[in-house]
Amino acid sequence: MGRTAEYRVSEMIDLTDRVALVTGGSRGIGRAIAGALYGAGAKVAVLGRDEARATETAVALGDRALAVSADVADAAQVTAAIGAVEQGLGPVDILVNNAGITRDGLLARMAQADWDAVLDANLTGAFRLTKAVARGMMKRRWGRIINVTSVVGLTGNAGQANYAASKAGLIGFTKSVARELASRNVLANAVAPGFIETDMTGALTESQRSTLIERIPLGRLGQPEQIARAVLFLASDLADYITGQVIVVDGGMVM
Ligand code: NAP
Repeated sequence: MGRTAEYRVSEMIDLTDRVALVTGGSRGIGRAIAGALYGAGAKVAVLGRDEARATETAVALGDRALAVSADVADAAQVTAAIGAVEQGLGPVDILVNNAGITRDGLLARMAQADWDAVLDANLTGAFRLTKAVARGMMKRRWGRIINVTSVVGLTGNAGQANYAASKAGLIGFTKSVARELASRNVLANAVAPGFIETDMTGALTESQRSTLIERIPLGRLGQPEQIARAVLFLASDLADYITGQVIVVDGGMVM
């Protein structure tokens, strides 16, 4: 009995023949997401600005992976990247909008350029990619859009007005897209990480780290793979009745 159930679960996370595109897939959380989807059998496009880094990640994954270099803040580069993925792997079934940047600063001193750069990459970037692949997903009556937001999009954070606005915006975007596309079996959800050990959090001092850890009930920072597992779940058949939701993966920080 137990064996049969196990067999069915592994079948339900089988992504063979699915094409996934992971923005910011070349390092950190995105790299772990690309690895998890690849491990479940998907063909995976790894998108990042730095071509060498995206190539290194795709080569490390294996022959079902393709590196694409593009800046999600540049509409023409996004169009070209989608074309390259469709030509190399096929139409996109699973889109993970994970690329993101920070340009922290207190509101009083925040330059308009820092506001614009963060909104353009984190929020408008997701809009560009989603719009480019949604039509095909709707036609094929199958699609998964998974947006990587942040707990900061739920709670706000001093010094991150631009970043928090972009991540809160991504949640509203996810829910609207979920409502628009549900009738065509295209599901849209978000994953909200807490503090995860990547280059983005690498600049924290030891004292900042210990202050942070005090706020995390599980008492430790998260690992990229722990976010990747939530994304894999949402991409799989295990999540085929879940849309418009935000899964918080943060060691219990936000409850
Ligand atoms: P990271 O280590 O800094 O990696 C960022 C990734 O995004 C890289 O692959 C980078 O590749 C790519 N990228 C950045 N801007 C891009 C652009 N304009 N166009 C294309 N690719 C771009 O970041 P991370 O910590 O893994 O974060 C991944 C996502 O999780 C982000 O959306 C972040 O906001 C979110 N998040 C992170 C944490 C955390 O604690 N780390 C917490 C909550 C949410 P290139 O440099 O080659 O372009």
